[in-house]
Amino acid sequence: MVKFSYLQPGKPAVFKDQHVTKVNDCLYPFAEGAKGEIGLIGLPFSKTSISLSQASDAPRTIRASLSSFSTFSGEKEEDYEGVRIIDFGDVLTHPTDMEESLDRLHISVKEMIEKNSCDRYIVLGGDHGVSYPSIRAFQEMFGTVGVIQWDAHHDVRNLEDGGRTNGTPFRSLIEGGYLEGEHLVQVGIRDFANARRYHDYTKEKGISVYTMADIELDGIVSIINKEIDRLSKLVDTIYLSVDMDVVDQAFAPGCPAIGPGGITSRELLASITAAASHEKVKAMDIVEIDPSKDFRDLTSRLAGAAMLRFMYGNK
Ligand code: CA
Repeated sequence: MVKFSYLQPGKPAVFKDQHVTKVNDCLYPFAEGAKGEIGLIGLPFSKTSISLSQASDAPRTIRASLSSFSTFSGEKEEDYEGVRIIDFGDVLTHPTDMEESLDRLHISVKEMIEKNSCDRYIVLGGDHGVSYPSIRAFQEMFGTVGVIQWDAHHDVRNLEDGGRTNGTPFRSLIEGGYLEGEHLVQVGIRDFANARRYHDYTKEKGISVYTMADIELDGIVSIINKEIDRLSKLVDTIYLSVDMDVVDQAFAPGCPAIGPGGITSRELLASITAAASHEKVKAMDIVEIDPSKDFRDLTSRLAGAAMLRFMYGNK
């Protein structure tokens, strides 16, 4: 009988100490009675996008990026392999009916929360239009909500011209009575990227706006710490809405609305870590990644890294 020297039929060719727990090893599909630290849901919907977008593919590429990250943090000298992510899957949207799809997203986020199986939630878009049904669901389930929005744009277009789009979620929330202007913080608003009337609307509604110039001056982490402290005294729960186009085009090329002069990937990760350390922060969405426009999934990988900062930021 021939004995193989190096072949191991049916086994992968890896050294024993090569095995590393990756973050995707911590994903468990939802089953009745399951408990975990993080609930994950995909809202694969980008039909509300003003520009052509396949952001509906991003839940798949962001989940896939989790296999690039180990669960061990050298900075904190901590292994997070025990942190369970309960994956609720992706919402089945309607192929043509936009309002029906937004209703399905709203119902599904609510149903996920009603299972009461997780402490915190991550919502993967989709374009920014998905934040309207998602934040609404959190407000209905947890009471007064405060939102920190990382974004190059205000997203407060009027609803009369084009209905609900990825340019209207925060106006929809404010005018629907789900969010107070004073409870919304916009960080990373980029110069020459917004019309004056939207700037004026934010002033009128008392929205806190931090431009890139403010970030240069004060630092994004101190801005986030100050606003989390202020919001936590006013609201029951805090929701982070991360539009990846807040990040400079050099770090996030896979967004439909790329632009120069945005924050760095380090600033994004540091600011999410700062926000996630507060106990009132219950949820984060990540939106506006179009994998068809991305390069080597750079933007989805950054989203994966942002998920880690959110999941482990309070641990
Ligand atoms: Ca946006």
